[in-house]
Order: sequence, then C-alpha cells, then structure tokens
Amino acid sequence: MSDKNDSRNPTIELAGQRDLTALRILGVRIDDVTMAEAVALADAFVQSGVPHQIATVNVEFIMTARRNALFRQTLEQAALCVPDSVGVLWAARLLGHPLRGQVAGADLVWELAALAAARGYRLFLLGGAPGVAEQAAARLQGIHPSLQIAGTYAGSPAPAEEKEIVARIRATQSHILLVAYGAPQQDLWIARNIGEVAVPVAMGVGGSLDYIAGAAVRAPLWLRRRGLEWLYRLCRQPWRWRRMLALPQFAALVVRSRIVEGCATPFRRRVIGEDEEIR
Ligand code: UDP
Repeated sequence: MSDKNDSRNPTIELAGQRDLTALRILGVRIDDVTMAEAVALADAFVQSGVPHQIATVNVEFIMTARRNALFRQTLEQAALCVPDSVGVLWAARLLGHPLRGQVAGADLVWELAALAAARGYRLFLLGGAPGVAEQAAARLQGIHPSLQIAGTYAGSPAPAEEKEIVARIRATQSHILLVAYGAPQQDLWIARNIGEVAVPVAMGVGGSLDYIAGAAVRAPLWLRRRGLEWLYRLCRQPWRWRRMLALPQFAALVVRSRIVEGCATPFRRRVIGEDEEIR
C-alpha cells in the first residue's frame, strides 16, 4: 500500500500546506484528509512539541456527539478529525462533498507506529484489558525493532485514577499517546489531560489495541472494502446490536438533512499553527 511507504519515509507531501478542507456532518466536523496526510500531520504535530488531539470520527461518534455536548465540543476542538468509517464517507457523498478517502483509526495506529519507529518518537499505549497494551507493544516492536515503547498501562478512565495515570505518562516524555478506553471516554480523557501529560500527539483508538494484540479479529479486507466491517463486528460481537442502532438512525438523519438543508458547506481550516476557520 502506498500509504505504508509514505509513513516509513515521511517526506511530508503536505510540506508547505497548512490548511485542510473540512465539513460538518450533523454538526460534527470531519477533515478531508488522506492517510498519507494524516501521518504527515501527526509528524508535524510532534515536531511542534505542542499538544494535539486526533479523533477518529465514525457514525457512533457523530450520534454520541449529538446528545453529548462535551464530546461535541471535544471533537470541534481536536486538531484533526479523520474520517474513520465508510458511513462517514457515504454521508459526505450524499451531502454533496465526497471525501478523498477513509482514514480508519485501526489503520492509522499502524501508520503512527511506523512513523514513530522511523523518526525515533516514543509511543505510549494506554487502555485495553490488562495485558493487551503489552501484547500490542510486543507485536509492534516485533515488526519495528527500532520502535521505542515509552510505556504501556491498562488503567481505567475512572476519575480516581486520572492523576496517577497522568503522572505515569508525563514521566515517560512520550511523543505519541494512544488511548484505548472506547469513545467517548477515551477522547474526553485526552481532552482533559493532554496538556498535563505533555504529549504532542494523543489519539483515541477504541478496539485497535485488541486487534494488534490479537485479542480481537478485524473484518477481512474484502468485507471492509465493501463497507461491511460493521456487519462482521455484529456477527462476532452480537452484544453490539444496541450500539449499532446508531447506523440506521444516522442514515435517516443524513437523508433528512440533505432534503431539508441541502448540501453541506465545506470550509478551509488551518491545521498547523493557530487552528482557525478560514472563510
Ligand atoms: N476499555 C478499557 N477500559 C474501559 C472501557 C473500555 O480499557 O473502561 C477498552 C476495551 O478493553 C477495548 C476498548 O476500550 O479495548 C474499546 O473498544 P471498542 O471495541 O468498544 O471501541 P470501538 O473500536 O468500537 O471504538
């Protein structure tokens, strides 16, 4: 895959580019970014030394954000909101502004590990069931022997643990922090603590560490290419059916929005440097 090569040799095809096109789907911002650009941006974020949050926006994110104002605000303030799922791509197309590609969080995690290995960035894995972060770290290190794992810790998003976890991460002087507490907890956790942990890039990764560790199996590529990853997850983890009710509800709301409000209005925003909307 060309994206993989880009990340191993992050030449930053974004060089000089500081703006991205974005649009809002049901009120949630999505950046029109490719995988190669997302990796290049993550690299630029690390170089900046200033905290940046990356969110992997899928249909469940958007539906949760509709009823959770704090989560909505967190996504709005994130440095980068990548289009994680085919549902988001479908909605953008229906709203008149197709996005250039899917940037699945589960793929971006691999790319960030490759970037970290190539650049000498220190990676911290937080969350997952006990032992999962360690197994994921071992697998990543097997693939990238030069990768520096600054730390791994399961912990929990419970407020009582927050102070101790923050101190633990801060002490490692990590460059990239991946948090696997599921949405929205992981993204809210990052928003609350990104300044304190002093990590330039932090991203919520959902079940990605489970995939890397081999604790869960991702849908085969042919199903993912057909946009049926959700169906595979539903078969493997039937308890997800209630969460997945968000999918048809989302589809109905997007169709309604297209009919009532018309196409979405894309806008440019500055991603590197001062974040601002450019009119
Ligand atoms: N998780 C955790 N602590 C919690 C809640 C969740 O470590 O209090 C982990 C859980 O073990 C899993 C991930 O967070 O690894 C959430 O995965 P899920 O599949 O729900 O996320 P998705 O990929 O659907 O966003």
